[in-house]
Amino acid sequence: MRNALTRAETMLRAACGERLRTSFPMVPLTTFRIGGPAALYLEPESDRDLAAVSEAVRETAIDVVVIGKGSNVLVSDLGFDGLVLRLGRRFRWTGRDGDRLTGGGAMPLPALSGVALSHGLAGLEFAVAIPASLGGAVKMNAGAHGLSLADVVERVDVYLLQEGRVAPIPAAAAGFSYRRTTLPQGAVVTGATLRLVRGDRAEIRSLMDDAREWRRRTQPLAEPNCGSVFKNPEGDHAARLIEAAGGKGTWVGGAAISGKHANFIVAGEGACATDVVTLIRRVQDLVEARFGIHLEPEVRFVGDFDLAPR
Ligand SMILES: Cc1cc2nc3c(=O)[nH]c(=O)nc-3n(C[C@H](O)[C@H](O)[C@H](O)COP(=O)(O)OP(=O)(O)OC[C@H]3O[C@@H](n4cnc5c(N)ncnc54)[C@H](O)[C@@H]3O)c2cc1C
Repeated sequence: MRNALTRAETMLRAACGERLRTSFPMVPLTTFRIGGPAALYLEPESDRDLAAVSEAVRETAIDVVVIGKGSNVLVSDLGFDGLVLRLGRRFRWTGRDGDRLTGGGAMPLPALSGVALSHGLAGLEFAVAIPASLGGAVKMNAGAHGLSLADVVERVDVYLLQEGRVAPIPAAAAGFSYRRTTLPQGAVVTGATLRLVRGDRAEIRSLMDDAREWRRRTQPLAEPNCGSVFKNPEGDHAARLIEAAGGKGTWVGGAAISGKHANFIVAGEGACATDVVTLIRRVQDLVEARFGIHLEPEVRFVGDFDLAPR
């Protein structure tokens, strides 16, 4: 692995120069604010950079992971022994064509929702307070208030690292389901086209204000977290099950189940990824023992964990 990483570093250094970083701290890149460093870290600014990444990854077979705003990831305390990619500023753009709004993969979803509002385009109100990048939101099929990206995405643009080429993927072929897509392994979402509808600006603004206000009321936004830790099981809510099983307030080390929302884990002073994973297992056990329901994590795990969640 060391040899492969060194070879990948040499190849990427030749293509991207000092923009390639080593032993790069990931704490500031995630909303949980915990975890170890990335062995290699790059913010690609173009398809050309992605082509260099593709070549290095295919030649050396190093592990690679893409992150967006890091709002749904838990990074191992040991970090990630491979290449972490986060789309750079040049992937932060928007364009409008009639009722269609297109954005780059690094475009923050709240900002994209703001652009929709400024054009009087309705349909993205649900997304205004989801702290995602467009790429991460598409990959996770992020959603709220009964809607998700699947309801508005018309086309996903990806760079296929395994093949070294760009590909447009029609929404129907992206495999959208609850907090999931079936985009190919190694597909970096570089942009997406959304089909919106013309609406009344005041009405759109009011729905967005309501969505923000609902979050402030119901979620522990002042503390580091990763949003909902578990997916909602069919016909129920993870938060209700955790609360009913007595999980609210449970803690391990510096990580605790939020008193405000039982499906949120908040990372307090000194929290580490191992605390979070141990707490995830404890909550899974509690709910399983009480209701016979297995809670599936929604959060994505980056790196190796001694105690992998089931
Ligand atoms: C306070 C808070 C509230 C939240 N509320 C909601 C909510 O209401 N609804 C909801 O669905 N989620 C919610 N989330 C979770 C999170 O915002 C979503 O899952 C979001 O889609 C993650 O986007 P991201 O850009 O941060 O991706 P990351 O968290 O960085 O990554 C998430 C996954 O997507 C992959 N990924 C990221 N970018 C790309 C890319 N460009 N191409 C390919 N793969 C990529 C990563 O590898 C990882 O598997 C919340 C999180 C927080 C912290």
